[in-house]
This record gives sequence, C-alpha cells and structure tokens, in this order.
Amino acid sequence: MTRDEQDHTADDWAQQALERLRQDGLEPMPENFAVYYKYFSGADPNLKMAMDLLFDKFGSLSQQQCTELFQIHLGLEAEHRVLQQTNTAIESELSKVMGVIDQSLTGATEYNQTLNSFSGTIQAAPTMDEIRGALTKVAQETRVMVDQNKRLQNQLAKSTEQLTEVRYSLDQVRKDSLVDPLTEIGNRKYFNNELARATLEASENKTDLALLMIDIDHFKKFNDNYGHLIGDQVLRLVAHTLVENLKGRDIIARYGGEEFVIMLPQTRVGDAEKVANQLRNVLATKQIQRKRTGETLGIVTISIGVTGYYPHEDPEGFIARADTALYEAKETGRNKVVVRIPSAEEVLSLQPVLPDEDKVKDADVAQVW
Ligand code: GH3
Ligand code: MG
Ligand code: MG
Repeated sequence: MTRDEQDHTADDWAQQALERLRQDGLEPMPENFAVYYKYFSGADPNLKMAMDLLFDKFGSLSQQQCTELFQIHLGLEAEHRVLQQTNTAIESELSKVMGVIDQSLTGATEYNQTLNSFSGTIQAAPTMDEIRGALTKVAQETRVMVDQNKRLQNQLAKSTEQLTEVRYSLDQVRKDSLVDPLTEIGNRKYFNNELARATLEASENKTDLALLMIDIDHFKKFNDNYGHLIGDQVLRLVAHTLVENLKGRDIIARYGGEEFVIMLPQTRVGDAEKVANQLRNVLATKQIQRKRTGETLGIVTISIGVTGYYPHEDPEGFIARADTALYEAKETGRNKVVVRIPSAEEVLSLQPVLPDEDKVKDADVAQVW
C-alpha cells in the first residue's frame, strides 16, 4: 500500500468513526474517537468483536460502554505512554547526577594535583613567600572543592525529590489502572491478575478456592425507570455492600457493566454457597432511597453462580463454570444462588496424571532390593 493509499484509508476510518459517533449520539471526544477509529481500522480484533456484540445487542454504544471499552482496550496504551515518559524523566535525572559526579571527579583530581605540588613546594625548603603563595592556592582549590561538593549535594537532593515524585505518580498510574473509578473496587484487569495468582496458589498448596459470579437482576429496567445516574449510585451501593460483607483475604472486582466477581480463598463450595446467599439476602433487604427526596425506589436483587477450583484446572474453565451457574440462576427465576461443580467427566479430564499403580509397586520393590 502506498503512503497515499494509507492516508486515504486512515481518512476513511476517521470519517466513518465520526459519522458513527454522531449516529450513536456520542460526543466526538478524543477517547470516544479513539475507540471508534480503532473499530473501523480493525486493528484490534478483540475490541472489534466486543463492539460488534454491543451493536448487535443495543444498536449503539452508551457513553459508559464507550468509556469502559477505552479503559479495557486502549487504556493500556495510555499507561504505556506514562511509563515511557517516566523512563525519560528518570534517565534525565540520572544524567544530571552523573554530570555533577563527573565534574566533581575532575575537580578532585585537580585538587589532588594541587596538594601534591604544595607538598613538593614544602619539601624543597621554600621561602615564606613561596609557602604563603602555595597555601593561598590550596585554600582557593579547597573552596572550589567545597562549592563543588555543595552543588553535588544540592543536585542529589533535587534529583531524589524528582525521583520520589516520579515514583509516586507511577504508583498512582499502576493503582488507577487496577481500580474501577465508579465503584472504587478492583477492575477486570485486577481480577485477572488475582485469578492467575490465586489459582496457582490453590494448585500448589492444594487449598480450596471458590468463585462467585454476580449479576444484578433486571438492571436495565432499573436504569430505564430511574435514569443512569441513579443506576450508577446503585452500582456503588452494591459494590460497597459486597465489600462490607467479605473477609480481608477475599477478592472482589467489577467484572463488567453490572457484574461483579468474588474469589474466596481457602473456602469450600458449600461454604461459598452460604456466603453467596448471605450477600444476596443482605442486598435484598436494603431499601434504596433517593437521598434528596427520600423517595423509595425499591430493592435490587442479584443472581449468583458459584463454583470451586480444581487444582491445575485452566482458569478459563473455572470462570466458564461459574458463568454457567449464573446463567442457570437467571433462567430459573433470578434473586438466587446456583452452585455448579464439574461433571464426573469434566473432573476426569481435569485430574493431573497420577503415577501408574504397578509402576509404583515396581519402584518400591526395586528400592527394597
Ligand atoms: P438480567 O437480570 O438478565 O441480568 O437483566 P439486566 O437488565 O440486568 O441485564 P442486561 O444485560 O439486559 O442489561 C444490563 C444493564 O446494565 C444494561 C445497562 O443499562 C446496565 N449497566 C451496565 N453498566 C452500567 C453502568 O456502568 N451504569 C449504569 N447505570 N448501568 C449500567
Ligand atoms: Mg449482565
Ligand atoms: Mg443483569
């Protein structure tokens, strides 16, 4: 493709993006534009697939969905940019420090020469004038050295301060990229990290690990009745209620839209089911009120799919099973908990290969002999 053709295609994508944004009633802000532009360029198949699904289901994207897509699919680029800027800042601070250290070393060498020549002058039985002259030179050079050391100290202090600031903003970026801004609990990326860590730990230590997949019931209707802003507040309320009723080591995250996910380490499926029902009950008894007017908006309920992890199982299978349980909970009435454990067949396919019985016996015999 020639440069001209490339520009032409990029123009087309940009135009398609702007047109579709207008059609979907979204502002042509940079973040929205980036999402739609990437969609039309087809450069990110995951983003394209997610958007096609949403277009199929809703006909257009809401601002919330567009923001989430940006965070999930393009947020990493933004994060990458910050990391690059941080690297440049660190390099520049280091080169400043190195520069002053270089100057200081040159100064120290010159100072050493001055001292040597002074000692030579003294040894050659000089006159008082010669001694005075040499001493004046040493005093001057000493002042230069002291100044240089002060400069080095100042530069080091400044650089330390700068680097502390850089480190702080880096921590903030890392933290921000794992936290869902609306509910202030972990986001999907955070959950994926934790999932990898927790499943590995459960496999290695042969400990239990339970998973709760949670979805608010008929939330679309709630939004339609009371508006998205109240809907957002309810999402925060649900998240906080869940957090309040969990233990410190439990892991909770917003999985997407109105879905949450909870991992309970060292918890059997039966106990996880109890926790799930408790969460469901606590929420179902909370009357939602409009703060300003005190108007009662009713209750929101949740459906929960529960499952347990099998050592060395693919984490995706673990999630899929909880999802299936959640789907069953929805299909069979909502505001309920459904537990799903793998079928015997599934368990067999999940079991790590065990040593052959006969071979074990042979090995024992061989040892005795
Ligand atoms: P179901 O019981 O089958 O889960 O029904 P539902 O209406 O909850 O499910 P559906 O998947 O049809 O719709 C989910 C709705 O959740 C669509 C959208 O209005 C709402 N939603 C998703 N994310 C947000 C958000 O960030 N804020 C608000 N206010 N609403 C959201
Ligand atoms: Mg849902
Ligand atoms: Mg729902």
